Amino acid sequence: MRIHWHRRDLRVADNLPLVEADADGPVVPVFVFDRDVLGQAGPPRVAFMLDALESLREAYRSRGSDLLIREGDPHEMLPELAEQFDADAVTWGRDYSGLARERDTDVRQALDAAGVAREAVHDAVCHEPGAIRTNDGDPYSVFTYFGRKWHDREKHPAVDPPDRERLADVSDGEPIPTLEELGFEEPEAEIPPASTAAARERLERFCEEDIYRYGERRDYPADDGTSRLSAHLKFGTIGIREVYEATEAAKRGVDGDRRESVEEFQDQLAWREFYTQVLYFNPGVVTENYKDYEREIAWREDEAAVQAWKDGRTGYPIVDAGMRQLREEAYMHNRVRMIVASFLTKDLLVDWRVGYEWFRRKLVDHDTANDNGGWQWAASTGTDAQPYFRIFNPMTQGERYDPDAEYVKRYVPELRGVDPEIIHGWHEASLTQRRNAAPEYPDPIVDHSERREAAIEMFETARGAA
Ligand code: FAD
Repeated sequence: MRIHWHRRDLRVADNLPLVEADADGPVVPVFVFDRDVLGQAGPPRVAFMLDALESLREAYRSRGSDLLIREGDPHEMLPELAEQFDADAVTWGRDYSGLARERDTDVRQALDAAGVAREAVHDAVCHEPGAIRTNDGDPYSVFTYFGRKWHDREKHPAVDPPDRERLADVSDGEPIPTLEELGFEEPEAEIPPASTAAARERLERFCEEDIYRYGERRDYPADDGTSRLSAHLKFGTIGIREVYEATEAAKRGVDGDRRESVEEFQDQLAWREFYTQVLYFNPGVVTENYKDYEREIAWREDEAAVQAWKDGRTGYPIVDAGMRQLREEAYMHNRVRMIVASFLTKDLLVDWRVGYEWFRRKLVDHDTANDNGGWQWAASTGTDAQPYFRIFNPMTQGERYDPDAEYVKRYVPELRGVDPEIIHGWHEASLTQRRNAAPEYPDPIVDHSERREAAIEMFETARGAA
């Protein structure tokens, strides 16, 4: 027997450790609720995970096995389970964040002490951290070259689910706990279905047509032209190889813009792996700036402004639409994530960690590597970061990427009857114009031009240039 410990691989298909680990013997699949890990999560993510676990259990049950559900410290639980099932090995898919690696070290030591073999297999990414390096052998801190190599490298093919006979004939009476039992409130947002079937449906639908217009549409939030696979990739309800192969299939026989569009989508998969390796080689980025400035950046503390940002009441329509989408859907479009992150750090001059913390609790797809990478990029503190003097103007961003204010109107009902020109010019409109157009909608809480100057000064001081 061997135990397979599911973590962020909540599926049976295209699961490398399940089928390719050297350890043999029938697999006893297990999931352990670890209070320390749960403590880091918000209700949307836990709700998605519970749904994914139900589906995973169903997948095992339909194969004559079962997913064992346990609660406790994995380093205590796994040796106990190995003893209970007379298993001589435990396998799992690797996780790359600092916290996960600390936990895995504890588990490895406990299994070693118990004389149980263990095997961790790369699974969550096509190319594991360290596989793609500069010619000098260093990890990349700039995406461009990493991305090129990522595209050129051969990838492991997707693998089938394990045969029935490779699964242990076990059954578990332990129900999957509810959100309430785990101490979480119901999420404010509606959470999308988390099964592998739901992920495949999204992928198939996306690869039929949207993928060919991705390059052209991905920046327009009203269009919904992206795959919405992020939560599935985060929890591994679909395998990355399966996603990649679907995109390769979409590329076959097409050329020109359509082919480039598919490659642009694949680029995003590469970004995900770029940030995964940044986090792996720099675990401290979760709390520290990646980029060193000469002096501390003098972020401001402004609780009222942060609250207005969280509530989607800053008086900057595109920012508010994004923050409200986050509350309603536990998701936000990528272009708008960049805009709201820039607004928090460069207009409100508030530390990126405040925004990262909010996203961590609110996003269904929160992924340490991607979220941190996105925030540090926007704050000009990361790898490959947005230069500190290039500051998004929330009005022109809105005008360019949501010209008819369709996205804004979807999430900000107070502005539904208002002309797009007034919406995107809210900041310049007179008080009377604003009151007449949308009396319920707030005035801008800061002046963008003033704050832009202040942000540049703040960064120049940090650089030691002022
Ligand atoms: P698609 O455009 O369809 O992309 C496909 C997949 O590629 C995504 O599902 C994701 O896995 C990956 N991807 C896409 N864009 C990026 C990117 N810029 N960086 C890394 N991977 C990417 N992504 C997360 O998965 N989790 C997060 O917590 C997260 N936080 C972010 C915070 C900020 C401030 C910013 C600017 C970006 C963040 N992103 C995060 C990246 C990106 O916004 C989301 O991956 C994307 O919006 C998810 O929607 P989608 O699945 O439709 O993406």
